Amino acid sequence: AAIAGAVSLALTLSACGSDIGSGSQSDSEGGTIGIAMPTQASERWLTDGKSVVADLKADGYRTKLVYGEDNPKTQVAQIAALIEQGVDALIIAAIDNKSLNGVLQKAADADIPVISYDRLILGTENVDYYVSFDNEQVGRFQARYIIDKLGLEDGAGPFNIELFAGSPDDNNTKFFFDGAMHLLQPFLDTKQLVVRSGQTALKDVTTLRWDGPTAQKRMNGILADSYGSKKVDAVLSPYDGISIGVLNALKADGYGSGDTPLPIVTGQDAELASVKSIIAGEQSQTVYKDLRQLAGVAAEMADDILNGKTPKVNNRRAYDNGVKAVPAYLLQPTTVDKTNYEYVLVAGGYYTDAELK
Ligand code: BGC
Repeated sequence: AAIAGAVSLALTLSACGSDIGSGSQSDSEGGTIGIAMPTQASERWLTDGKSVVADLKADGYRTKLVYGEDNPKTQVAQIAALIEQGVDALIIAAIDNKSLNGVLQKAADADIPVISYDRLILGTENVDYYVSFDNEQVGRFQARYIIDKLGLEDGAGPFNIELFAGSPDDNNTKFFFDGAMHLLQPFLDTKQLVVRSGQTALKDVTTLRWDGPTAQKRMNGILADSYGSKKVDAVLSPYDGISIGVLNALKADGYGSGDTPLPIVTGQDAELASVKSIIAGEQSQTVYKDLRQLAGVAAEMADDILNGKTPKVNNRRAYDNGVKAVPAYLLQPTTVDKTNYEYVLVAGGYYTDAELK
């Protein structure tokens, strides 16, 4: 499996992405890999779980896949159980990035290597490798979409924008938000973008556990308190589930009917409901991350570690978890809207046309 190719040719490879990490014959004697995922409530993590399992099986491993249902304590207990059961390696997408310190000490004591999957585990030396996407680039894509659609670089405005961020206990949240704000801030400074709610600091705009209904409630409040006869022109949303919540609030307030168009609403993950929403002209954009590639790299890392080889890393960004710089392999995301979803998602084999009907 060619990791380098997976990065440089993300689009081309997405058609055969499911083969990444599963093509090579494993020289391991096999073993059992524990996989701890955050929640079944979001489609993406179901795809991640399935893909990691498939790739490891193809490499001759047994797998134990668990979902923590967004409860950090449940996840800690699940990982402890996997260690008790004697897994040979752990692949973990954390719920609360800071809650795993104790249980990962147990993993280290039992010589079980740990791969931090998608979300960096913080505050412990007991994490060996990190695989994710370039998370700042995700935020930049969302901001770039808003800037282009509003014509901000041509001097257009002022426009009203509201900002949403992900869960405060997820290390990715800051990367997404900082990536976006790096591009948006100059237009806030020139007042081409105005945040009528006044909520611009990350701590004021996070959404615990990435929960759509929580975001919907916050958007309802913002519309009631800060808009009156004024209109929202754009919403920075970090994740499709949050975008759906925001759109529900907007539609309940009369947007999307009569002469009040829906604002630009960004997203992330290309989840089925959001791709359908994009096709229907509601959500504007999403960021696609080929989870087959992510799973493939994670499986290959586990296979390499267990065979005494050094996994490939590209360290495109320094990922310091507070205790150490974790060697990282970062993949490239892709921005998707109505104009390119066919090419990226359907031709890329991620969805069939029938699924998007
Ligand atoms: C992931 C995103 C996802 C979010 C909510 C983040 O850590 O990187 O892809 O949208 O969690 O599940």
